Amino acid sequence: MSDLLTTILTSPVAKKAGVPQPTRLRRYEPGAPLLDGPVLVTGTGPYAARLREWAGALGLSLADAPNGTADRAGDAATEATAGRGGADGKVSAIVADLSDATDPGDLAVLPALAPVVKRLRSNGRVIVVGTDPAGLADPAHAATQRALEGFVRSLGKELRAGSTANHVLVRGDAWDGLRAAVAFFLSGRSAYVDGQVVRVDETRGTNPDEARPLDGKVAVVTGAARGIGAEIATVLARDGATIVAVDVPAAGESLARVANQVHGTALHLDVTSPDAGARIVEHARSRYGRFDVVVHNAGITRDKLLVNMDQPRWDSVLDVNLRSILRMNEAVLGAGGLDEGGRMVCLASIAGIAGNRGQTNYGASKAGVIGLVTATAAQVRDRGITINAVAPGFIETEMTARIPFATREVGRRMNSLQQGGLPRDVAETIAWLVQPGAAAVTGQVLRVCGQSLLGA
Ligand code: NAD
Repeated sequence: MSDLLTTILTSPVAKKAGVPQPTRLRRYEPGAPLLDGPVLVTGTGPYAARLREWAGALGLSLADAPNGTADRAGDAATEATAGRGGADGKVSAIVADLSDATDPGDLAVLPALAPVVKRLRSNGRVIVVGTDPAGLADPAHAATQRALEGFVRSLGKELRAGSTANHVLVRGDAWDGLRAAVAFFLSGRSAYVDGQVVRVDETRGTNPDEARPLDGKVAVVTGAARGIGAEIATVLARDGATIVAVDVPAAGESLARVANQVHGTALHLDVTSPDAGARIVEHARSRYGRFDVVVHNAGITRDKLLVNMDQPRWDSVLDVNLRSILRMNEAVLGAGGLDEGGRMVCLASIAGIAGNRGQTNYGASKAGVIGLVTATAAQVRDRGITINAVAPGFIETEMTARIPFATREVGRRMNSLQQGGLPRDVAETIAWLVQPGAAAVTGQVLRVCGQSLLGA
């Protein structure tokens, strides 16, 4: 938050007057502990014991039940009430496995968590594990599991002080994916991800090195000269990847600066050119002999109400944000393109989910990205390639700095975390999705929006 209005709203006078103040979010620092206090792992599901063991092995302190593992709602309630917290009686996270719940009555364990939720530290985490309701034949079973999503999304809106609530859905024996997703949601990597649902399937995948999960990987990032793209390049490089930073020739100097900072190479290229995909593949292969990750981040806005929309505005936004990805993917996913086990992330937007006034072209292009991701995931699954969309909400960049003053402040605060996100928040989510350990997550849309009130 950098402008005058924000300075006024966060001033001591405004604080005294009771203007709600955003909490400083806990963001990921390499080497820092996953959590700053105890975690309560509870619930009746089959993963609770494994999650508890895993958390213990990671060195997390467990706010555990004095009387052991909860295996019924009643026991879980006792555990929730009696669970030990840190020295101050507080807990940093609650992980509740309810993936075995089949009847709405099984959800009684949730209100029993209230005393622990009350003791949640700032920047706390609530993670609820469920079973993917899609494909459940029994209506009561499907209803019970779907109810968890409503619970999580509502709780996300109730939590304060930078705390978040997220939901992991499992399909089959999804231990690897579950562990990876829970680690992401506990960590500062997910600081601005709130009220979201991630599905994990049975695909196996682990990080060879948790500190540098992308070691040895070659990652191409488009639109890398500034904003979110520059931050994606920085974070992927921090996690071990070798970066190919792509941007238009006009962004020459800033692109070179980013490429130098991350010790990668710059590729001056307009993503709408017909040979863009082929040039990206050729660059990665000839320089580095491999090609593991693509982040399709380049994007533009040309806002106008539809009644004032001219053809060039429509065409340019659709071409840069959507058609270029479809074209590039022919080469990137074709023979000699992305290596087996490759990763792709496309930048969508909450405007592509909820729509946005003045953005029929942009909203169409970003919704199109989501369609592209869903269909492509099925095509490349056999090659171990994943493709996901990340949909940012209000992120502090040059793009959003151009929004008029008052609209900008409203956009920034209209979410459960009551603040705009940083490019780094988007980059951390993408860095997680492209890890080897995130193999079980594909074809999904993950919003990085602080649980924006816009859309789902
Ligand atoms: P930005 O305008 O700051 O940066 C976009 C970059 O893409 C620029 O460096 C630009 O030169 C490059 N680019 C544009 N057209 C290109 C082309 N034809 N070929 C190659 N490079 C090109 O934007 P940002 O805010 O960093 O946004 C990055 C992505 O995130 C975009 O896809 C945007 O739609 C999406 N997004 C941003 C926000 C936000 O709040 N900033 C919200 C939702 C989605």
